[in-house]
Amino acid sequence: MTEKSLITVVGAGLVGSLYAIYMAKRGYKVEVFERRNDMRKATISAGRSINLALSDRGFKGLMGVGIDDEIRKIGIPMHGRIMHDVAGNLTFQQYGNDGQSIYSVSRGDLNCKLMDLAEKEGVKIHFEHKCTGVNLDEASANFQFGNEKISVKGDLLVGTDGAYSEVRDAMQKTPWFNYSQYYIDYAYKELSIPPNEDGSHRLEVNALHIWPRKDFMLIALPNIDGSFTCTLFFPKSGALSFDSLDTIEKAETFFGEHFSDALAMMPHFREEYKTNPAAGMVIVKCFPWTWKSSAMLIGDAAHAIVPFYGQGMNCGFEDCSIFSELHDAQHEDWDLLLRNYEKSRKENADAIAELALRNFIEMRDRVAEPSFLLQKKIEAKFSKAYPQFWTPLYSMVTFSHIPYNDALVAGDKQERIMQSIMKKPNIEEIWDSQEVENEILANFI
Ligand SMILES: Cc1cc2nc3c(=O)[nH]c(=O)nc-3n(C[C@H](O)[C@H](O)[C@H](O)COP(=O)(O)OP(=O)(O)OC[C@H]3O[C@@H](n4cnc5c(N)ncnc54)[C@H](O)[C@@H]3O)c2cc1C
Repeated sequence: MTEKSLITVVGAGLVGSLYAIYMAKRGYKVEVFERRNDMRKATISAGRSINLALSDRGFKGLMGVGIDDEIRKIGIPMHGRIMHDVAGNLTFQQYGNDGQSIYSVSRGDLNCKLMDLAEKEGVKIHFEHKCTGVNLDEASANFQFGNEKISVKGDLLVGTDGAYSEVRDAMQKTPWFNYSQYYIDYAYKELSIPPNEDGSHRLEVNALHIWPRKDFMLIALPNIDGSFTCTLFFPKSGALSFDSLDTIEKAETFFGEHFSDALAMMPHFREEYKTNPAAGMVIVKCFPWTWKSSAMLIGDAAHAIVPFYGQGMNCGFEDCSIFSELHDAQHEDWDLLLRNYEKSRKENADAIAELALRNFIEMRDRVAEPSFLLQKKIEAKFSKAYPQFWTPLYSMVTFSHIPYNDALVAGDKQERIMQSIMKKPNIEEIWDSQEVENEILANFI
C-alpha cells in the first residue's frame, strides 16, 4: 500500500474518529462510514448525559493528536472514590498520588470533538451509512444509505464498529479465526442525580461515588452541568435482579432499602427506571485482528470488555497511539505493521479484560471491607517508601503506560504478598510497623 491511498473506516465512534485523525495527519485519504446520523446536528437534546472515565492511556492517545488539554478542560477530575454505606456514611479512598486523577468526560462531547477534528484534518465522514458486509481481500465494504446500496473500495479497511462489528463478522468466516463472546449475568441501567437549583452538584464533585452492596452496586460520575450519571449494576435474573424488580414500586422500595441517600436525590427515578433499558455487558475476544495487509480491527471491535475498570475506551485510544508508534517504525511496510500491531496488543487486551472482570468484585464487594481499606493503606505506605519496587495495581492500570499484561503479572505478585501480610493476627495494630515493611521488602531484595 502506498502513501495517501484510501483508508476506509467503519464506525465514527470514539476509537474510529481518533484513528481517522491519526491516519489523516499522516497524509492518508481517510473516509469514515457511520450508521448513525450526525450527533452534532441533533437539535433536541435527549436529556441524558453519559460519561466515561478517561485516564492516562486515553490522554496519551489524545495527546498524539493534540487535544488532550482541550478535553481535560471539559472533564471533571476525580481524585478518588467515595463509598456510601447503607446508613449513608461516607469513606474516601484516594486513587493515586496527590495530584493524580481520572476524568469524567461526556461521551457525546468527546465524540463530537473528535469528529470535528477529524473533519478539520480532511476526513470525510458519511453518516447514516450502515455497513452490511465486507470483502476482506479487496478492502471493500457495502453500505445501506436510505434505500441505496453503496460499495466502497479502499486500500485498507478498518473495523472500528464496536462490540458487534460487521467487519469482524466477515473475519469470523475465515479459517483459523478464533472468536469468543461472553455475556456476564449482570446488566446495567442508567439513572441520574440532577443539579441543585443553583446548578451546583448534590454530591462531592471531584470523586467517583460508589454504593457497594456485595452482589450489586450503584456508581455515580459527575457531569459539568451539575448532574451525576448513575449506573446500577445488578443481576439480570434471579431472586434479586432486574427481572424480579418488575414494577416501579418494587424498584423504588429496593432503592429505599439499599440506596436511600441516592434515591432522595433522584426526582426522576420513576420515569428513568421505567424508560432506561437494562443493558447487557459483553466480553469479546478474537484473533487475529488483521486480514493480510487489507483489513484490521481496533477498539471494541477487537476487544470488548466489561466497564468496571473504566478502561474500554482508554484501551482503544492506546491501540491508536501504539499503532501510530509502530507506523513510525515500520512506515509503509503494512504487512509487518499489521502483524506487529496485533501481536503487541492482543495479550494486553486480554489482560485488561481479566482485570476489568476482577475489578467488579473489588468495587461491588471488597471496597466496603475494612480489611481491604487497610490493605490498600499498607500498599500505599510501602509504595511511597519504595516506588522502585511497588506501584499499586490501580495506578499501573490507570496512571501509567506499563503494558496491561505486565501490570496484571505484577499485580498478582503483589496480591500474593499482601494475602500473607493480611493473615498476620494483629495486622490492625502493626500495619505501619518496621516488621511489616521488612516482610514486604524481603520479596524484592
Ligand atoms: C456502561 C459502560 C460504561 C463504560 N465506561 C467506560 C469508562 O469509564 N472508561 C472507558 O475507557 N471505557 C468505558 N466504557 C467502554 C467504552 O464505552 C468503549 O470501550 C468505547 O466506546 C469503544 O469505542 P469504539 O469506538 O471502539 O466502539 P463504539 O463506541 O461502540 O463505536 C462504534 C461505532 O460504530 C458504529 N457502527 C456500529 N456498527 C456499524 C455498522 N454496521 N456500520 C456503520 N457504523 C457502525 C456505531 O454507531 C458507533 O458509532 C464503558 C462501556 C459501558 C457499556
